[in-house]
Amino acid sequence: QQQQQEQEGYIFKCNSPAVLVPEHTTLPDFVLRDAEHFSDKVALVEVMTGMKLTYGEVARETRRFAKALRSLGLRKGHVVVVVLPNVAIYPVVALGIMAAGGVFSGANPLAHAVEIRKQVLDSSAKILVTNGLTYESKVKDLGIPVIVIDDDDTDQGHSSDAIRWTELLEASDRAGGNFIDENVLESDLCALPYSSGTTGISKGVMLTHRNLVSSLCSTLSNVGPEMVGQVTTLGLMPFFHIYGTTGICCATLRNKGKVVVMARFEPRLFMHALITHEVTFAPIVPPIMLAMVNNPVIDEFDLRNLKLKSVMTAAAPLAPQLLSAFEAKFPGVVVQEAYGLTEHSCITLTHGDPSHIAKRNSVGRILPNIEVKFIDPETGLSLPRNTHGEVCVRSQSVMQGYHKNKEETERMIDEEGWLHTGDIGYIDDDGDVFIVDRIKELIKYKGFQVAPAELEDILLSHPSVQDAAVFGIGDEMAGEIPVACVVMKQNAEESEEEIMNHVASNVASYKKLKVLHFVDSIPKSQSGKIMRRLLRDQFNSSSIIS
Ligand code: AMP
Repeated sequence: QQQQQEQEGYIFKCNSPAVLVPEHTTLPDFVLRDAEHFSDKVALVEVMTGMKLTYGEVARETRRFAKALRSLGLRKGHVVVVVLPNVAIYPVVALGIMAAGGVFSGANPLAHAVEIRKQVLDSSAKILVTNGLTYESKVKDLGIPVIVIDDDDTDQGHSSDAIRWTELLEASDRAGGNFIDENVLESDLCALPYSSGTTGISKGVMLTHRNLVSSLCSTLSNVGPEMVGQVTTLGLMPFFHIYGTTGICCATLRNKGKVVVMARFEPRLFMHALITHEVTFAPIVPPIMLAMVNNPVIDEFDLRNLKLKSVMTAAAPLAPQLLSAFEAKFPGVVVQEAYGLTEHSCITLTHGDPSHIAKRNSVGRILPNIEVKFIDPETGLSLPRNTHGEVCVRSQSVMQGYHKNKEETERMIDEEGWLHTGDIGYIDDDGDVFIVDRIKELIKYKGFQVAPAELEDILLSHPSVQDAAVFGIGDEMAGEIPVACVVMKQNAEESEEEIMNHVASNVASYKKLKVLHFVDSIPKSQSGKIMRRLLRDQFNSSSIIS
């Protein structure tokens, strides 16, 4: 058997049988299947306002919005950028865009006006959807129609150039006619989230209906019919990110559970939401688990009132001490780690197979329909069990490529269809997978992506900066924080703080540099690549600080 594996390469799969992915199905059809049988059941509830949407309303409003978008001129393949915090109507907006044949591209509502403009330009977006507050402060004058969802922050009448959500839908209703499905195919693009991948700046990740439907089929393969309608999921992770779009909203709505929607983490509100709304499943990231363990506010609540059965942590490594502290404080709550990436439509490896209890601190097992191999990054050869290598994934959930970026697409997906993740891991004898390192440039601050290349571009745009390098270092609170080394031009007078402020004024708050050092030179390889790992190691051993 070993000889055969050596010839074919070491390719690992799930032990459970493959799951069927329905043919010719769009994501909205897949997610809203049977919605009419649950029409009075609450699908989404907002913690702050108490605003609720039932399955009947979600299905109806999705079709209404799709029809209204088409009356605005949206056609198959057109991109719509959505800049909204987590609100109950968010999944209706995303599914409505897809049902109309459009491509949903979520942007971080914390993004700076310049960053939103970049996403709009890069994606050639035709329409943008936002709320009144963001409209006023960030997205006026983009030169494309902007639909503003009414909210309490909106001062009536001031968004005169914007198209009001309610008015748009009412006008479309008055125009009559039925929503015409524009023959949306499973092979059509439906989402364009932004990710920096293994290198460079943020790029649009092209995902089709088939990519996302097959990802959901793999993720939900353990959910039996008896669990339909049972789950109450915390909707705290950002809905613009694939973890929120697919892992939380689409997965819960497909199973006719309830999403408890929260726009940001605030410990008291968080505990109140978990208890009052009887949340049973909370997808989070390690920094939130840390707060659940350490924040004194949590101790004000009687934890026996929780109905929480499991938490899922994903997006970044989970420290073993944190896992132990959580298990001690919340006995009986199962911790399910998960690993995934935007380029693979969401979750790829996870716990949760009832026939196999994955080891603590492993990210779990390979989901059905997915192949994984671990390769030597130098030789490209696949490696046997228990050997560290770059994680490569192949399945129907692998993205189509990066939008308008053939070079980066070819770097990420090889000729045999393997997605090279830039993460280092291994699989053990029992089929449990461990992620141990990352060889790609990406920094993850509290689970959010920070692309070093983007911060370097901004640093280099400063007239006094000659050269710059950005890399991540470990941090207990945030997972990782961005650090910069900067070479200043001769006679430059600015302080380190002034250069950090220059970056801060051009990016969303979570991308701000936390540390900046002036250095004499930036170490580069023969091909001119910044040696970020060397810088990180030097920084950790403090030899960078002169
Ligand atoms: P994103 O595309 O924003 O979801 O980021 C994907 C990247 O996050 C992966 O390639 C990993 O580097 C990292 N990541 C996701 N889940 C985990 C995990 N459970 N453990 C370690 N790193 C993770």
